[in-house]
Amino acid sequence: MKLANRTALITGGGRGIGRAVAFAFAREGASVVVAARTEQEVARVAEEVKAETGARTMYATCDVSDRESVELVLADVRERIGAIGAIDILVNNAGIAESATLVKTSDELWQRHLAINLTGTFYFMRGALPAMVERGWGRIINIASIAGKTGAPYISAYSASKHGVLGLTRSVALEVASKGVTVNAICPGYVETDMTTRALENIEAKTGRPAADALEAIKRMSPQNRLITPEEVASLALLLASEEGRGINGQAINVDGGSVLY
Ligand code: NDP
Repeated sequence: MKLANRTALITGGGRGIGRAVAFAFAREGASVVVAARTEQEVARVAEEVKAETGARTMYATCDVSDRESVELVLADVRERIGAIGAIDILVNNAGIAESATLVKTSDELWQRHLAINLTGTFYFMRGALPAMVERGWGRIINIASIAGKTGAPYISAYSASKHGVLGLTRSVALEVASKGVTVNAICPGYVETDMTTRALENIEAKTGRPAADALEAIKRMSPQNRLITPEEVASLALLLASEEGRGINGQAINVDGGSVLY
């Protein structure tokens, strides 16, 4: 059991990548807290993970872009897990992706991406880090994107927010490198989740290009000509969260079949 006696909080744990991470961590013995805005989804994941793995699970509703909401969740989780410790592993996975040309990017779309993808990650890191440093052990894993390393048309707000996540990751990793805490980012290519399905539907609605065609096109963006599965992302998160991963710090690791080589 690679994560025995560890407690992990996973934002955006109601579906997609966050859900897969919750299962992967719980199977390795972690207690798991999933947080997102939709109560029904996080409650279901907490229930399913518990039923399948026997792990201790909790869920919390939270909007990561709202500082008070984040602080409330952290306080609530601390109180409820008090008997078993603090948050050892934080996975900042909650995120949104909407597309628009730069000129059609409204203030709201721009602010929404920064607030959820970047500031939400900052709020959770700032809130969870002190207890990790105090205990001399911690793992922070930020789910960024290959869009955090490179650009693509129509995703300037998304890409800017994910570039920000990498800067945040690298800087904090160096701040806490000597404290037993590692901070890393995972940069997936297109993953088989609702987010990708919505992007394909959006392309069809905006351009008339059938979603099935657009799917083939995004598969071809990877030299492996396929999408990544949520479980592949979760496997890397597990390595980063485990004791074996302790030497990996400040990295931004791609899981994209080789489409971005840096
Ligand atoms: P999904 O849309 O399937 O899931 C996103 C999760 O984030 C949901 O649980 C959602 O719940 C939660 N979330 C969104 N906004 C907020 C918010 N303001 N506060 C709290 N929770 C929120 O996406 P994926 O699983 O595909 O994506 C997860 C992460 O991976 C994202 O950061 C994304 O950018 C990144 N990623 C995804 C890729 C892909 O191809 N799918 C590729 C590269 C990176 P709710 O709406 O209920 O709050």
